Amino acid sequence: MKILTKGLILTELSLGENDKIVTILTESNGIVRCFARNAKNIKSSTCIGSQSLCYSRLHIYIRRDKYILDSAEPLNVFYELRSDIEKLALAQYFCELLINIVPENSEPTPYLRLALNSLYFIAHEKRPLPLIKAVFELRLLSLAGFMPNLVCCDECKTYESDIMYFSCSDGILLCDECYNGKSGYIPLHRGALTSMRHSIYTDFEKIFSFNVTGGSLKEFSDTAERYLLYTVGKSFTSLDFYNTITV
Ligand SMILES: [Zn+2]
Repeated sequence: MKILTKGLILTELSLGENDKIVTILTESNGIVRCFARNAKNIKSSTCIGSQSLCYSRLHIYIRRDKYILDSAEPLNVFYELRSDIEKLALAQYFCELLINIVPENSEPTPYLRLALNSLYFIAHEKRPLPLIKAVFELRLLSLAGFMPNLVCCDECKTYESDIMYFSCSDGILLCDECYNGKSGYIPLHRGALTSMRHSIYTDFEKIFSFNVTGGSLKEFSDTAERYLLYTVGKSFTSLDFYNTITV
């Protein structure tokens, strides 16, 4: 069977002198590992369109559960990501997250939209990188079924107080009074909590339509990362690298 689809190349692995194995988030089949014969040859119909971080129109043969890339026409190569080490590192972290978090047999379109929109915002510096990173982490987890409950205090239902406390393990909030010194909670001031709520509850078209700076941005970004690492339960080499170069 031959399919025509679109997809974002998440990783590429060199295989011998001419071939590659590429991992793709496709619009039609979710995440697939695809053999790309001769893709390292500059004259090949898959050479540019099979590069990592390239969004391409793809022809793929499927034979006995094996995926073979027949052609890859680049639609957006996101070249702005390749000239800046911080942007590139963050984009590669997003790709590693997608490979690890997108559930099998889930509808791929929301993940692909989130990935493409986030890469666009990184590429064109539409928002600070820590903001884009935190929104992507929280929205991705929410799509995959790990949305925290940030509506109100889990005990007394208070919507907002000057400071609230977030539990990464339970994904819930407590207000200042109900918190009462419990262990395992992260303090969240208004700016950070508003940013977290926006990231998971707002319509997709508006996920980056806000700004947060200074200490609130750091609190938002740190909390999103801690929640992600706790929820997924593993570390990511691409995140370690990103954090190393952005210290
Ligand atoms: Zn309370």
